[in-house]
Amino acid sequence: MNAPGIQDVPHPILFIPGPVEVDAELRAILATPAIGHRQREAKDAFILACGGLRELYRTEQHAFFENAPATALMEAGIRNLVHKRSLHMTCGAFSERWAKIATACGREPVVVARAWGEAILPEHVAEALEAADEPYEAICLTHSETSTGVLNPIGEIAATVREHSPDTLILVDAVTSVAGAELAFDEWGLDLAFAGTQKCLALPPGLVTYALSERAVQRSHEVPGRGFLLDFAATPARFATGESPATPCVPLVFALNRQLERIRTEGLEARWSRHTAMRDLTLRFGAENGFPPFVEHEHRSPTVTALRAADSSAVDGVIERARAAGFSLGRGYGKLKQDTFRIGHMGDHPIERVEALLDAIRPA
Ligand SMILES: *Cc1c(COP(=O)(O)O)cnc(C)c1O
Repeated sequence: MNAPGIQDVPHPILFIPGPVEVDAELRAILATPAIGHRQREAKDAFILACGGLRELYRTEQHAFFENAPATALMEAGIRNLVHKRSLHMTCGAFSERWAKIATACGREPVVVARAWGEAILPEHVAEALEAADEPYEAICLTHSETSTGVLNPIGEIAATVREHSPDTLILVDAVTSVAGAELAFDEWGLDLAFAGTQKCLALPPGLVTYALSERAVQRSHEVPGRGFLLDFAATPARFATGESPATPCVPLVFALNRQLERIRTEGLEARWSRHTAMRDLTLRFGAENGFPPFVEHEHRSPTVTALRAADSSAVDGVIERARAAGFSLGRGYGKLKQDTFRIGHMGDHPIERVEALLDAIRPA
């Protein structure tokens, strides 16, 4: 399993909802000697990565990456595509963060909030769009709400947006869905979707990958003050020749290219199915052991599950049993910390490793 020259050091296996476990082969690539980012080999790697990302996002339009956390693309989406008013459908911490970012960028976001653990459904979106006196420039949605474990039905929601407000751009935080849950950028008619490398792509943090529609590129030309690094109007021409505006983390791009090749070998559909199987095992474990799911309806993410425990000390017990068996698990997010824990069943984990984790945390 270990790549030549890399001894796999003993370490806790990550089952937190990001960053995730990175295997030895990918870690070995990160240790390759540095090269200049204007060298042919680096530029070829950047162009190859964009092609692989188009395949991953299922788009024939644009896909790029930048050195940044995924949050940078929430901000870039607003700065490039919204003059004033975006609609934010929130149901957890990450969708709420996006609305805060719009305010921080001097915009006037309109928030339609659902309770944590609820899903955003097409009828909620239709209602919000119809209540508006003029069309929103963009709607901001979170696909897999990592704070609660909800998977919002983005394909159906996007169809509703197209029907009720065809000029509204559809921006999607797909951070814990890309490479773990079905996402079809072109077929669904999305305008922006993004994900960091440290979630279902099973790489270290450092790059954000994103897909962009041609319609969004055109729209960005009309918005002043887009910034320099993540300027959607300038990006397609830069990447066409592999010319990055700043210095990318070249070894991480090499590792991304290797991972995209491995995903092609596994098969994207097979990878989605493996994630669904990991979720279903986790839910069954919860049902059999007194840990009901925090999400009480069918819109459950295949990549992260929040389970309820009786109280805080029951959560402590789970995390401690995981730790003793060599696994790292996280408590619930923010206000859910006291009586839930989350399992990030995402990335490259084989099913057997999830079974081993669940066996280890089963109450005596
Ligand atoms: C992890 C996560 C983010 C933030 O990613 P960063 O790379 O830390 O900026 C945003 N949205 C969702 C849904 C996430 O799970």
